[in-house]
Amino acid sequence: MKKFKHKKSLGQHFLKDKNIVRKIADLAEIKENEVIWEIGPGKGILTEELLNQKSDLTCFEIDNTLFPFLFEKFGTSINLINEDILKINWKNYLKDNQIKIVANLPYQITSPFLFRVTEHAANFSRVVVMIQKEVAERINAGVGTKDYGKLSLKMQFYFNVEYGFTVKPHLFFPPPKVDSAVIILTPRKDKPVLEDERFFWRVVEVAFQNRRKMLRRNLRVILSKEKIEELGSICNIELTRRGETLTEKDFIELYEEVRKLQS
Ligand code: SAM
Repeated sequence: MKKFKHKKSLGQHFLKDKNIVRKIADLAEIKENEVIWEIGPGKGILTEELLNQKSDLTCFEIDNTLFPFLFEKFGTSINLINEDILKINWKNYLKDNQIKIVANLPYQITSPFLFRVTEHAANFSRVVVMIQKEVAERINAGVGTKDYGKLSLKMQFYFNVEYGFTVKPHLFFPPPKVDSAVIILTPRKDKPVLEDERFFWRVVEVAFQNRRKMLRRNLRVILSKEKIEELGSICNIELTRRGETLTEKDFIELYEEVRKLQS
């Protein structure tokens, strides 16, 4: 078979260590015939372990020059889809609603990919992904810390987030420049129910738009000066605060008040 040339642009850092692969698969807690999505199987090191666990496996791989390697190893025992996971319409593939995602993600798609997962959170029963450690820390960050932002709030809004373990660069080929980490997401049973979730995320987006600025200033994108004055007098959240100091509960309160004034 032709020698494979790794493509940096596709985040092709392949795992070398079978112990790490086993640890990732174990965190997925796979039951027989469970539907699993693997994003970017590469040459199939993780795929092999997921198949060992008798899952019903669908793999999305953008790079079809990897297909000969995957066919040789797995034949037709996996459902291999040659697509960019960010470009396809997920609804066409979400036939089950208890799907697990297990992947060593290409790092450049981490945030857009995880945001897509939140859009379909109800379909996923567990998500176990390897990402850059720095991003894992942001996802897991608590309010008021330097890592806390829209990504933390959004992932923690839909999922319980657990930090699995750290993986050092030498365990990949070619090695990435930074440490990686595995995180586990499970759907929250107590996820807040909001009347207008879209608008809630608009308020969050605006509040974090300029991290150094106070809410009063950032909210100008949504409300007039006068309405902000009014908001200041009715809202329990001080508008001199910055977005990074607001908990989920605070954001919900802020969104409710802004929503009233906006309509
Ligand atoms: N799972 C393999 C492993 O652990 O060795 C490979 C992981 S490698 C970090 C990421 C894989 O995702 C590569 O095979 C790459 O070609 C693929 N990929 C990159 N961007 C993608 C996209 N947008 N959609 C689907 N696959 C993608």
